[in-house]
Amino acid sequence: MKKKCLCLIILITGVCFSVVTFAGEKVHWGYSGHEGPKFWGNLAPEYTPCAEGRNQSPIDIAKMIESDLPPLAFNYQAGGTQVINNGHTIQVNYNTQSSITIDGISFELKQFHFHSPSENIIEGKSFPMEAHFVHADNKGALAVVALMFETSAKDAKNNELEKAWAQMPAMAGGKAALVQPVDANLLLPKDRSYYRFNGSLTTPPCSEGVRWLVMKSHVTAAKAQIDKFKSVVGHPNNRPVQPVNARMILE
Ligand SMILES: [Zn+2]
Repeated sequence: MKKKCLCLIILITGVCFSVVTFAGEKVHWGYSGHEGPKFWGNLAPEYTPCAEGRNQSPIDIAKMIESDLPPLAFNYQAGGTQVINNGHTIQVNYNTQSSITIDGISFELKQFHFHSPSENIIEGKSFPMEAHFVHADNKGALAVVALMFETSAKDAKNNELEKAWAQMPAMAGGKAALVQPVDANLLLPKDRSYYRFNGSLTTPPCSEGVRWLVMKSHVTAAKAQIDKFKSVVGHPNNRPVQPVNARMILE
């Protein structure tokens, strides 16, 4: 009888494990404990770059090399029409044609989402929040524009952010159509100078070959807005900085 029970337990465990594994990218990961960043590379075969990649994100942006970076050509319009809570972050999905042009290639804005505290740090400085504007070209190559948020000294609300924040789903899996579409252009700072380097997704599967463009200027949000994000996500959602290795950071 004991043997039968044991077999059943093994069978059930095995089935559960299979369901999780065969769900592809749906393998569970998190920001702490045995599903935390240190273990991402071991959680699934497709997450191997998290452990073995040499061009991983985020990084400490330092030792920049002065170069003639062309101005970033933003072609954004209001188009953030849905806000989702995916259990890892709050994300605004974009549905109208908004793009940036890099290296003569057009990358379409798909979504933007947030991390708190910031993932990238700039010369050792961390920020309370960082936004990632995720773009893809027609071959699926990715370009991420990163924007740092500071807490407003005057406690001024970030009005564009508030359009999404007002309908932020409190529960993981929640989604809401936005009453007022968010214009990513209005989230960006006036000064659009940037740092550029190669990197990866900062979440599993940590795929490399991502063009990173980090705005030098930051914007602000009210403390209550940053606190609301933190409390809804419920834990810090920043991957620790990764080794720069042979990469060059251009400015
Ligand atoms: Zn991100």
